[in-house]
Amino acid sequence: MAIEIKPSICGICPGGCAVKVTLEDGKLVKVEPHKDAPYANLCIRGRHAPEIVYSPHRLKTPLIRTGERGEGKFRAASWDEALDLTVQKMTEIKANHGPQAMFSHSGRGTFEQSMVRFYNMPNTMTNKLLLPFGSPNISGVDSLCYVSYGIFAPMANFGLLATNLSPDFENSNLIIVWGTNPITDSPPFIFKRIVEAQKNNKTRLIAVDQMRCDIAARADQWVGVRPGTDGALILGLLNVVINEKLYDREFVEKWTLGFSELSDYVQNFPPQKVESITRVPAETITALAREIATTEGVSLHTFTGLEYSNCGVQSIRALYILWAITGNLDVRGGVYLTAPRRPPQDEFPKPAGILPVGADKYPLFYELTGSAQFMEFPRAVLEAEPYPVKGLLVIGSSILTSYPQPKIFEEAFRKLDFMAVVNLVMTRDALFADVVLPSATYYETNSYQRYPGYARLRRRVIEPIGQSKNCAMIMTELAKRLGYGHLFPQSEEDLVEKAFAGNPALLKKLQNSPDGVKIPAPERRYKKYELGLLRSDKKPGFPTPSGLVEITSSLTAKHGYDALPVYIEPVEGPLHDPELYREFPLVLNTGARIQSTFRSQHLNVPGLVKYQEKPHVLINPLDAAERGIKAGDKVAISTRRGEVFFYADVTENVLPGQVEVNMGGGNPTQVEAWRQANVNHLTDFSNRDPISGFPVFKALLCQIKKA
Ligand code: SF4
Repeated sequence: MAIEIKPSICGICPGGCAVKVTLEDGKLVKVEPHKDAPYANLCIRGRHAPEIVYSPHRLKTPLIRTGERGEGKFRAASWDEALDLTVQKMTEIKANHGPQAMFSHSGRGTFEQSMVRFYNMPNTMTNKLLLPFGSPNISGVDSLCYVSYGIFAPMANFGLLATNLSPDFENSNLIIVWGTNPITDSPPFIFKRIVEAQKNNKTRLIAVDQMRCDIAARADQWVGVRPGTDGALILGLLNVVINEKLYDREFVEKWTLGFSELSDYVQNFPPQKVESITRVPAETITALAREIATTEGVSLHTFTGLEYSNCGVQSIRALYILWAITGNLDVRGGVYLTAPRRPPQDEFPKPAGILPVGADKYPLFYELTGSAQFMEFPRAVLEAEPYPVKGLLVIGSSILTSYPQPKIFEEAFRKLDFMAVVNLVMTRDALFADVVLPSATYYETNSYQRYPGYARLRRRVIEPIGQSKNCAMIMTELAKRLGYGHLFPQSEEDLVEKAFAGNPALLKKLQNSPDGVKIPAPERRYKKYELGLLRSDKKPGFPTPSGLVEITSSLTAKHGYDALPVYIEPVEGPLHDPELYREFPLVLNTGARIQSTFRSQHLNVPGLVKYQEKPHVLINPLDAAERGIKAGDKVAISTRRGEVFFYADVTENVLPGQVEVNMGGGNPTQVEAWRQANVNHLTDFSNRDPISGFPVFKALLCQIKKA
């Protein structure tokens, strides 16, 4: 038996962790962390890679539907037949209804770096294959994830993206982690940095979260907040900081716009009142505000957790404004800023004369992402509003497990003239497709991976399983048949060469360095706004229209939204709807990740399912006892939208009166308990953040009873 051990990049998710793989006669049998290489890591999913790669559920040939939509009856087809049929149907839709009648939706399965660089839109990661086709209706997971935090809030405040704001943990005296659990990140490199800061510098760590998640359990202090009320808590902190004059007066006077309006507005949020909204004690609010304002070097790590309330964008804005006015922006140990990157030269122009679906209802979303808001897709298909949509291409995503009230989306799928899905395994979306195209894992493809200060090539470890193909090359094949293949890389080799076209010497080095190459980091300079290092005109200030940190945002105001970072009480919550609260007296949260899954993936892999065989609802012992529920009991969770069965995890990690329900269930290859547990039958299609259009996943009302 021929045994080989090679350095590699994990091929299970786009995280890019450095690993060592063992091959027996060319078959992947074992994966270990590559401890000598930078960015070494191995999560349990990475450890189970052989089981994932060789899963019997992998799609091995293209498929063409033979039964009714949703029935799951297909026949195997050749690539030529499946691609030709896809292009024929797309062309018919274009001829009969116009190019805008074709829609695409791309997901987390398309975030591998070469896909992001050549096939996706910069910043949003939305696949752009349909732009040269003439359709503006490109969409993706940015319709319900990341861009409130990643684009809208930081652009409104600072004229920057979240990728231009990074916590300077290594020099911090205090780290605040707000509404996120970096331990379950893929990869968990942020978590590792926090642990190092705690160990090396004895840095204090505070976690603000609706539940005592893993990072909160490791923190010096956990501040438990009622779901959906983070915005009120932040305004309460601002109230203390402003009224006690703890803010950085010089920064505020010189570099901010709208401070006096904010000072007036936060008078509505004294700590006692905020306690009644958030359930955080007034003295905790006052102490936390003082600690943030008086500690030198306070870094902040937040992510998408705050997005899913009725004021997600504005709450994230308020959080970063707190950091700005307390003197923690672009200082040692605070939130470090970098200048915006110029977009790549080879961007495709947007189709002229027609706006994407959702642009009418969510104009800021359209201005900043350039894409369609997929939450409006059913309206277009079912009501022809603002115009008819007839075709859908789903690339590396699972719409029916991730969007609220999936029955609405299923109804839209049934009405389509054509639907194609690209994925590794049969998803519930794919059951509705006319054509299913099998993609390969990253262990089966050639590409590259850039990290901060480091780069390496991704070298194919095993041949693609069955007839599966690199998703990037599936896109190229479709583009070729649509007549614009020349706009994309022609092969994996071409893709790697194009990626390093600006630095062929680096590519040469990478080709000769299986463990990658270090790249010198740029010099670190603080207070860049004073030095003219943030704006393209090189003037001091921020790249906002006013050149200042816009506490009153011209960007939000331009589209008719509040200029101030205002708070909106959860629309489906105990204070706003007490009558409903009597019927559904528990606050429902969804979305927290578990380690054995990657979103809805891997619940078909026995070695991973054994870590958590059943979907859980985390419920406080008081709420469980009141309902006669014990740990492990099967329970029925109901909302106004429906009822789904989960299994009780009775724990003090959630506060009384609120529950956390696992997401990810509902796909056909998953084990029975998970397959039946799609939490989104409980969530609400209509209840959204008015700016982003994101569904309110984290502040709904439910009831639970023993099944
Ligand atoms: S985080 Fe992703 S890339 Fe890293 S080991 Fe886990 S599955 Fe692999």
